[in-house]
Parts: sequence; C-alpha cells; structure tokens
Amino acid sequence: MISVDEALKHVLDHTFPLPVTSLDLSAVLGRTLAADVTSDIDSPPHDKSLVDGYALRTSDLGRANALFKVLEEVTAGETPTCKVTKDSVVRIMTGAAIPEGADAVVMLEETEARGAEAVLIRRSSLTVGSNIMRRGTSLRQGDTVLEAGATIRPLEVGLLSEIGRSQVFVQEVPRVAILATGNELVPSDHRPKSGQIRNSNGPMLTALARSATASAVDLGIGRDDRDILAQLVTEGLRSDVLILSGGVSAGVLDLVPGVLEAAGVEQVFHKVNLKPGKPLWFGVVSQQGQTLVFGLPGNPVSGFVCFELFVRPALDRLAGRTASSAGRRRFRLACEHTHRGSRPTYYPAAWEESVDDQPATAKPLAWRGSADLRSLTACNCLLVLPAGDYTLGAGQWVDGLVI
Ligand code: AMP
Ligand code: MG
Repeated sequence: MISVDEALKHVLDHTFPLPVTSLDLSAVLGRTLAADVTSDIDSPPHDKSLVDGYALRTSDLGRANALFKVLEEVTAGETPTCKVTKDSVVRIMTGAAIPEGADAVVMLEETEARGAEAVLIRRSSLTVGSNIMRRGTSLRQGDTVLEAGATIRPLEVGLLSEIGRSQVFVQEVPRVAILATGNELVPSDHRPKSGQIRNSNGPMLTALARSATASAVDLGIGRDDRDILAQLVTEGLRSDVLILSGGVSAGVLDLVPGVLEAAGVEQVFHKVNLKPGKPLWFGVVSQQGQTLVFGLPGNPVSGFVCFELFVRPALDRLAGRTASSAGRRRFRLACEHTHRGSRPTYYPAAWEESVDDQPATAKPLAWRGSADLRSLTACNCLLVLPAGDYTLGAGQWVDGLVI
C-alpha cells in the first residue's frame, strides 16, 4: 500500500492549474491572481497632508504663539496655487497636496484662527516632514505590488482598485461535482426508516469544496446500482473534479471503482496506508478536459480526512494557489495520548494558541471512530501520528495539519 506522501505526489502529478481568465474587479474576491500585478502610479500621487491644519515652513517656527498669514485653503482634490514663504501658511485639509515651500503641517487643533487671513500657531515642535506622507511612500509606479498565486481578499480588491486594475487576470475556479453513493442513504429532509441513514457526506463535501473556493454541485444520492451510478458518473465527469463518497471498499456493493473504470477513468491508485481513509481511490480521465476523480470512503470522518489530505491540495493547485489553504504546524500535546495500530493516523484534535509565548497546544478529541462526525465538530486540526503502539506524554511535540 502506498504512503500518504506517495499518494499526494500522485495526485499533484496529475493536477495542473486551470486556464486564466480576465474578470471585472467586482468579481474577483476569493480568486487566485494569475499574473503579477504592477502599479501604474505612485501612491500617494503627491506629497499629501495627513491631517487638517496649516502647511508651513518649520524654519519659521522659532517662537510659540506666532502669527502667520493664511495664503489660501486647499482641500483634497485641489491643487495649491500659492508657494509658502516666510511667516505664511496654507490652510490644508487631509489628503490635499502640500504646497511648494512647505515642509510640515500643523494640526488645526494646535492653532487659533485670527479671522480668515491669519492664524496663531501654538505649537512649535514640528520637524521637517511632520504630518506629511511623501509621494510614492506606499508604492511606486512599476512596483510589483501583488504576485501571481496570491488569494484576492477584500484588502487586495482595495489595492487593485488603487492601482487602476478594473480587470484582473485570475485563475478559473475548479468546478467540482459531488456524488454520495449508498442504498442506505436518504436526503437530510427525510426521516430515515429502518436501516437508513441521512446523507452527511454529500452536503459536507460540497461545503468543503466551496470552502476551498471551488464551484461545487451536489449530484445527490446514487443507489448502489451500476447503471444508476454510471449515469451519474457521466454527469460528474463534466466537472474538473468528481468526488464520490462510499462504495470503494471491499463490500459486495462497493461498485464505484468498477463503474469509474467502465466510464474510462484510469485508476492511479486504490488504498493508502492511512487511518482513517485507507480505501481511497484516485483516478483521472481526459474527455472534455481533464477530470480528477476521488472515490472517498463512505465513513464521514474518513471522507473528511481524505478531503483535507488529498482533495484540498488538488483544488489549491487547480486554482493556481501557491500556498496551501491547510497548514502544517507543530503542537505540544495538551494531555497524554495512546496510539495503537499499524497505520499512520490523522487524529482529530482541537488546538489553541497558548498565552505568554508558549507553544500552541493540541488536545486529541474523544473520538469514537470514523462514523463519529459529531465529535469532529470540535476539531480544528489533525494530529499526524506515526504507526505503532505507543503513548505520548502531555507536553510532547506532535505534528499537525491545521484545517
Ligand atoms: P462504504 O464506504 O460505502 O462502505 O460506507 C462506509 C460507511 O459509511 C457505512 O457505514 C455507510 O453507511 C457510511 N456512509 C456511506 N456514505 C455515507 C454518507 N453519504 N453519509 C453518511 N454516512 C455514509
Ligand atoms: Mg456503501
């Protein structure tokens, strides 16, 4: 059986960033930048006042309570017409361009107007540059301000707008189809009859895909029947990624691998040395563009772990993200933990930042196996526990995957 690392390598070796598209700035939130972005301007575009006050020459500030002549008033968006000369000032508002000759701005609160044409300045401790933001301090024309691979958050939207990018080159969003398989499944708005359970995985995997900024469609529930599954698989293969849940183990109704292969999907691997999630199936097909196909085990926790370990990194790469949306991190164990078993385990845990610069701690959850989704709602990381029978003491270091 292949290891988690080998399986992930296989997945990524078959995964390529989707094409690039140009979108209106209003539609790029959450997308991945497909090209470096340079600025067409200096920002700020002029030396600008950071306060409402008076622009002056610091060399004129020898004495407190000095009286100055007000030459004009400049508000944001206006261009000064006067040059500041000895014992004169320009009344200036936040954001306005600093007039020639001035080298600092005194705040309005530190002055007293003497009619419209004179002002008394109480404070004299300004230095050259006080309350002025120099042209180009934030960025210069030609600077690369954002790099390809960055995720566009609201802050990036603001910056893109500042530098005039009303159209932005972004990566296409992966289209993901999700199909839950199993005769025992009923939709969540049904009350299960004897032997039935509600379909947790379909909605969960759809939500997981959306949390990775994919556009996801839930194909509903497929009965354990070759023809029904074949029809739904054909529909799912129109997407960039098809995720199935259930039907990939060794049971008599585990029909998914056979149905996928009959549909032309080439198996890359089946089964990974991991717990939970051993039955994972992965394959690829190139029909109308390439589709990655993940057959996840039906147990909800197994499906969740497989999504985080294999599907999310694939979605990140398809979307052109350079940094993974799930992060590796080391923790100190919050309590003793005993591991038993011959497979490396991805164990649900709750981690939290410690106070006083101490390392973050993680507490393994009281988890009752792969079907226990409820306990998993407290989970915000998976502890990576090597195979073997051993007990880790409280305070020992463990690797984790923050999710
Ligand atoms: P399977 O992988 O199809 O053998 O399913 C393994 C276990 O997961 C069985 O107990 C199934 O009832 C359960 N299961 C399968 N699919 C789902 C689903 N969509 N939601 C919740 N549980 C499921
Ligand atoms: Mg099944």
